[in-house]
Amino acid sequence: MDFTLTPEQTALYDSMRRLAREVIQPGAAERDRDGRWDPDVWKQTAAAGVAGMPIPEEYGGSGGSIIDCCLVNEALAEGGHDGGFGLSLGAHWVIGTVPIWLHGTEEQKRRWLPGLCDGSLIGSWASTEPEAGSDAAGIRSTARRDGDGWVLDGTKMFITNGPIADVCTVLAKAPEGPTAFIVPTSTPGFSVGRELDKMGCRSSPTAEVVLEGVRVGPEAVLGTVGEALWRVAFECFDWERTVMLASSVGGMRAGLDDAIRYAKERQQFGKPIAHFQAVAHKLADMEINYQVCRNAVYKAAWLKQEGHEHMLEASVAKALVGRLAVENALECVQIHGGYGYLKDFPAERGLRDAKLVGIGGGTTEIQKMIISRTILA
Ligand SMILES: Cc1cc2nc3c(=O)[nH]c(=O)nc-3n(C[C@H](O)[C@H](O)[C@H](O)COP(=O)(O)OP(=O)(O)OC[C@H]3O[C@@H](n4cnc5c(N)ncnc54)[C@H](O)[C@@H]3O)c2cc1C
Repeated sequence: MDFTLTPEQTALYDSMRRLAREVIQPGAAERDRDGRWDPDVWKQTAAAGVAGMPIPEEYGGSGGSIIDCCLVNEALAEGGHDGGFGLSLGAHWVIGTVPIWLHGTEEQKRRWLPGLCDGSLIGSWASTEPEAGSDAAGIRSTARRDGDGWVLDGTKMFITNGPIADVCTVLAKAPEGPTAFIVPTSTPGFSVGRELDKMGCRSSPTAEVVLEGVRVGPEAVLGTVGEALWRVAFECFDWERTVMLASSVGGMRAGLDDAIRYAKERQQFGKPIAHFQAVAHKLADMEINYQVCRNAVYKAAWLKQEGHEHMLEASVAKALVGRLAVENALECVQIHGGYGYLKDFPAERGLRDAKLVGIGGGTTEIQKMIISRTILA
C-alpha cells in the first residue's frame, strides 16, 4: 500500500490551507456568533476552483480525483476553523452539484454545471422532511404529472444553503416512486420557510423549504423517474460519508493544533501545562484519534476512487469520526480550562461544530445499522 501524496497533491493541500487561513479563518468567530453566511468569503474561496472540485473541466470544474477532493475539504477545514463553511461548501458541490454531473442529461449539465463550478450559482440538496429523516424512503412530498411537466408539493427540513441557493435538487414521490427534480429556487411556489437557529456550524444557513404547487418542465427530472432513492440519494449519502467527511478530519487537526499550542504556552505551577503527563497524554490520545479517523476516511475514499465496494468502510469512517471528533473537541476544551468554556477561543465552537458529524448525512446509529447488517449477512 502506498500512502504517499504526489507533489501536486501536497502543494494543493498547502495552498488550500493557506487560502483558508487568509480568507475563511478571519471573522469565523463573528460569523458563528451572528449565524451569518458571508458571500465575500464564498466568492474568494470559489475563485480558487473549489466550488466544482470533481467536475470535469469541460463543464467548468477542476477535474480533481476523489482523493484531491478530500484533500481540499480537509485543508479548508484545517486552515479555516469554520465548520459552517465546510458544511455549506459540501452541500453546494458534494450533494448539490455532483448528482447533476453524474445523472444529468447533457443539456442539464451544460445549463447548471458552469455556474455551480465557478461559484456564481449555489447548489443544495433536499431529501429530508419533517417526518422523514433517517427513513429517507418515508418522504411525503409529491410529484404529480401536469401535461408533460410536474407539480411538486411538500415541506423539506434542514436544507443546508436553503436561504442562499440558486438551485435545489428536490426528492419527491412520483406515482412510480421517489424522483429527483432540479428546481431553480426562483420557481413560483418554491419558498424558504423558517431559518433554523443551530447549535453549531452557524455560519452555514439551514432552513425549511416549502413547495407549494411548484411547476417544473420535463427537463427538471434528474435521472430516471421512480428510481432516485437508490440511484441518486444513496449515492449522495456515499459522497457525504467519504469526501465530505474529510472536512471533519481537518477540523480535528485544527482543534489538536490549538490544544498543543495552548498547552505549550499556558503556565501553571511554574511550567507549561504540556509538561504534566495528564495533559500530554490527552494530546497523545487526540493525535491517535486524529490518525485513526484520517486513515479510515482516506481508506474509504481511496476504495471509492478505485471503483471498489466501500459501503462498509464509509460507514465505519462516518461512525468513527462522529464519535472521535466530539471526543477530541471535548479534550480541546478541557486543555484550555476555563478559557475553553469561553467564546474567546475557538475550542467551544469546535465542539459545537463537531457534534454534527454524528447526525447529518446519516446518523451514527444508522451507520451501525449498515455495519451490523453487512457483517451479519
Ligand atoms: C445542520 C444540518 C444540515 C443538514 N443538511 C441537510 C441537507 O442539506 N439536505 C437534506 O436533505 N438533509 C439535511 N440534513 C438532514 C440530516 O441528514 C438528518 O437530520 C439526519 O439524516 C437525521 O434525520 P432526523 O434529524 O430526522 O432524525 P431521525 O431520523 O428522526 O432520528 C432521531 C434519532 O433516532 C435514531 N434512529 C432513527 N432511525 C433509527 C433506526 N432504524 N435504528 C436506530 N436508531 C434510529 C437516529 O439515529 C437519531 O438518534 C441536515 C441536518 C442538519 C442537522
